[in-house]
Amino acid sequence: MKKGDTSKRDGIQDVLCPFTDWYCTQGANASYSHRGSEANDVRGLRSGIRYPYYAPVDVRCVNINRAYAFVWWQSIEKVRLADGTIDYVTFLCGHDNSINCYIGQTIKQGVQIGNMGNAGNATGIHCHIEVGRGKQNNWERNLYRVYCIPNQIPLENVFFMNNTNMLLGIADWKYLDDVNVDIPVEENKMYLNLSKEADTWRIYDLGVQPVVKNAKGMLRPSNFGGLSYTIFGYEDNGTTAIIDTAQFGRVKIFIQHKFASITDNPIYKLIK
Ligand SMILES: [Zn+2]
Repeated sequence: MKKGDTSKRDGIQDVLCPFTDWYCTQGANASYSHRGSEANDVRGLRSGIRYPYYAPVDVRCVNINRAYAFVWWQSIEKVRLADGTIDYVTFLCGHDNSINCYIGQTIKQGVQIGNMGNAGNATGIHCHIEVGRGKQNNWERNLYRVYCIPNQIPLENVFFMNNTNMLLGIADWKYLDDVNVDIPVEENKMYLNLSKEADTWRIYDLGVQPVVKNAKGMLRPSNFGGLSYTIFGYEDNGTTAIIDTAQFGRVKIFIQHKFASITDNPIYKLIK
C-alpha cells in the first residue's frame, strides 16, 4: 500500500500489504532464520534505508519485545484476507530500531506503524513480517526451534498487493479484484430520475411488452418538479427499469430518454 490507503468492502476491511515496495531478502521456510516459518524479510527500493510501513487494517499493539525488537499488532475487527477468508489476524513486525508504540495503542489502516531497521537479531535494514490467524500476542518455537507466531499463514494468503511495487519475491500474490465481494443491494442502490421537463411517462406491468396498448398508466414528473425512484431491476434488455410507484405499485418504465438519468443518489422527490 501507499501511505493513507484504506479498503473496506461490505463493512469488512481488506488486509493491505504494509509496504510500498516489496523486496524480499529472505522468504518463507528459507534455510537461515525462517526454517519452518512463513516469515518474510522485506526491504524497500534501496538497501539501507529505514522506510516506513503502515497498518494493514485497523490494529492494536498487544505486545512488544524490545530485546529482539518485535511488535505484535492485532486486527481490532475481523478482516478479509487475500484468500477471501474473514477472521482476526495478528501481524508480527521485527527489527524497528525506533519502536515508539505502546501496548494498547490503536492505529488506523494506512497510518504508519513502524520503520524498517536492523535492531535485534538482524543483518541489513528490513522488516521481518509474519502473520498468525486469530488474536495472538506471543510466539512459539517450531520444530526447528525457530520462533514463530502461532497459526502462521502464508503471506500470499494474507495481503492484498494493491499499490505495492513488487520488486523481488515471486508468489501467487492477490489483488482486491481477485476476491469479489457481494455488496448488498441496500448499499448499492441506483435511482431513476425523471426530470421536470417530462410531462407524462408511460408505465407498464412487469413481463408485458412495453408498447402503448399495454400501458398501465402515466407518471407526471412535471407536476412534481421531477420524480426519483429506486431501481429494483431491469427488463427488456435493460431498456426498462423496475420501480415502485405510489399509484400503480411495482411497474416498469422506459429509461432511454434525455429526460431520464440514473444516479446513486436521488435527484428529485424520492418515491419509495
Ligand atoms: Zn526474518
